[in-house]
Amino acid sequence: MDSVDEIEKVIHDFWDSAPSNSLHLASGEKAWAEPHVAIARGDDPLFRQNKESIGPFLWTPEEAYALAFPEAPVPAAALRVISYVLPQTPETKIDQGREKEIPAERWARSRFHGEKFNCALRLHLAKTLTQAGHPAVAPERLPGFGYQQSETFGLASNWSERHAAFVAGHGTFGLSDALITPWGKAVRFGSVVAHIELPATERVYGDDHQAWCLWYARGTCGACAVRCPADAITTSAGHDKQSCLTYIRETTAPYATKNYGTGATPCGLCQVKIPCENQVPPALF
Ligand code: SF4
Ligand code: SF4
Repeated sequence: MDSVDEIEKVIHDFWDSAPSNSLHLASGEKAWAEPHVAIARGDDPLFRQNKESIGPFLWTPEEAYALAFPEAPVPAAALRVISYVLPQTPETKIDQGREKEIPAERWARSRFHGEKFNCALRLHLAKTLTQAGHPAVAPERLPGFGYQQSETFGLASNWSERHAAFVAGHGTFGLSDALITPWGKAVRFGSVVAHIELPATERVYGDDHQAWCLWYARGTCGACAVRCPADAITTSAGHDKQSCLTYIRETTAPYATKNYGTGATPCGLCQVKIPCENQVPPALF
């Protein structure tokens, strides 16, 4: 397994055949639409820059790899970060777009059952690469994965799937902090760090981490702020993580548990019915 095509096939086959890729509805529909893959070099300077801006607790690819393979650490230049996007299905996005205060049942199910699939996919990809002679780790699945308080970003994890996706060329951040990709913003991410030689994906937006958001690029839009029932997004201050977390913990999560029988922390009302729901906003081009 030495090419991006082969890695894409591993991810696609698991997406296609794993029973866990399911919303667990009578319809039998999948949790996610077709995945997309991008590759970052382990020594991309943006990983260090992210660490400097978020906090020393944020792992670089090299640090995450060394935690998994302490006996055989590898220099950053020999590592690649394989990042994938799992888009919400059209049905889930249509349902979510009808809601104003509480996430739709399909959305809550993708957050709960779909994320369980995502965890399994991370581990499957890491195991398949390792067995093929390319030791690999899914940082989000490491025992030390967790959250800490960043001086600049509030509560933040020590491996950020969104930041890995940004470095890999999947997309840029929007006003709501979510990543806008060519498949829209209603997506989830996963990643694996592997000792493998692969060409990095071209990052068409360069280092501009907000290039694809209408608000940051043009001073227009703000639709995600209007969609948030908790007023946790403003054009003056962006995403207020604490207000968002409070709304999810006190309102959407208990509702989903009681009415849908799901766990986790669903919301994502700000990810649909907006110009970047399904694509990079066309008005930018
Ligand atoms: S809805 Fe508009 S302001 Fe919000 S992230 Fe998307 S493009 Fe930016
Ligand atoms: S996820 Fe957070 S920011 Fe987005 S709509 Fe829900 S409460 Fe608002």
